Amino acid sequence: MSDVIVIGGGVMGLLTARQLVQRGVSVTLIEKSEPGTEASWAGGGIVSPLYPWNYVPAISALASWAQDFYPQLVEQLLEETGIDPELYPCGLLMLDPPEFTKAQAWGKAFGKTVQAVDRAFVQDREPAATSAWQQALWLPYVSNVRNPRLLQALNVSLLQQQRFSLVKHATVERITPTGSGVEVSCGGERYSAARVVVCAGAWSAGLLASLGLQLPVVPVRGQMLLFGARPGLINSIILKDGKYVIPRRDGHILAGSTTEEAGFDKSTTADARALLLQHAFDIVPALRDVPVVQQWAGLRPGSPGGLPFIGAVPGADNVFVNAGHYRNGLVLAPASAQLMVDLLTGATPIVDPAPYDPARAREPMEMI
Ligand SMILES: Cc1cc2nc3c(=O)[nH]c(=O)nc-3n(C[C@H](O)[C@H](O)[C@H](O)COP(=O)(O)OP(=O)(O)OC[C@H]3O[C@@H](n4cnc5c(N)ncnc54)[C@H](O)[C@@H]3O)c2cc1C
Repeated sequence: MSDVIVIGGGVMGLLTARQLVQRGVSVTLIEKSEPGTEASWAGGGIVSPLYPWNYVPAISALASWAQDFYPQLVEQLLEETGIDPELYPCGLLMLDPPEFTKAQAWGKAFGKTVQAVDRAFVQDREPAATSAWQQALWLPYVSNVRNPRLLQALNVSLLQQQRFSLVKHATVERITPTGSGVEVSCGGERYSAARVVVCAGAWSAGLLASLGLQLPVVPVRGQMLLFGARPGLINSIILKDGKYVIPRRDGHILAGSTTEEAGFDKSTTADARALLLQHAFDIVPALRDVPVVQQWAGLRPGSPGGLPFIGAVPGADNVFVNAGHYRNGLVLAPASAQLMVDLLTGATPIVDPAPYDPARAREPMEMI
């Protein structure tokens, strides 16, 4: 029997497990398919919220902590596994961002560079970008991480740990607090631990409903395109009209993303492809000559305001949740996992945990 069962092997579950194991806690992670194959795989890997000033300070606090932590995380993972998550400090260029003044005020308040830049700057940094814009902002501190590699490295690293065990292709159907601990049922199998952490992304609400918590977390489909471009066509993440292009180190460019209410349907659609192509060509006209090599969809765990639920599940002893990160799970994950583990181990939390308290799910909330 492990000390803790983590349900879900996305970025949240893998990082929560990693940080628990690093603190001497034994962990069983239960995953319904293979680890790292859902939203955390499908995401763009931008290590920042898209328009960070549009979120509550509690999101900026986690994002800021995680942005500082990412370089050491990827360095450790590379050393432990030989897999490079390819953190790429490429910066984020915003063309015609909404709320220019609010953006700069937010930068000052959070100690982040949000720099107004002119045509010469943009032309020099991104010669292939469109010239059809009026204002531009440059956020040099933003990186992107190659999320499928990050997940692979986290998984391989965990599998090297004696205190870790993985149960895959097992869907948790029920969580039952037993007084002294928790029992988790998957098909005919039962697993027990002192505590359980639900990191099941868009599926978390379904798991917690039987415990009396109506967690307002819903799937929000996001579709993405991948261009097989040559290295150097773009050098930064470029964001315009809510859509973006992201350069990977090997030249591939991701173009994203849609936000669709389609339940748990992960299909890709021709409409989304056409929309994403139109935006990508609008941002970088030369992409018209570059082949699209892949299209995919993932299910974000949507939550009101995108503010995750991190902490004890009210009314269910020894059950915790770390879910609901909506569009920002990859940037927030290291901080979110650290906070979750602080709460589980009684350590001083890295940030005030109150804004993320799952007890707020008992109050009426507007979705997303
Ligand atoms: C198109 C797209 C673009 C995105 N871009 C970015 C970005 O650039 N930057 C950013 O920060 N974020 C981005 N995101 C958001 C980010 O990907 C998510 O917020 C994050 O991956 C959520 O992580 P998670 O671990 O909570 O969920 P998931 O990765 O979905 O993991 C949940 C896991 O739980 C498992 N599971 C579910 N139910 C059960 C069960 N009953 N039993 C066992 N296992 C179960 C699932 O199989 C899955 O592996 C994007 C998302 C999408 C879809």
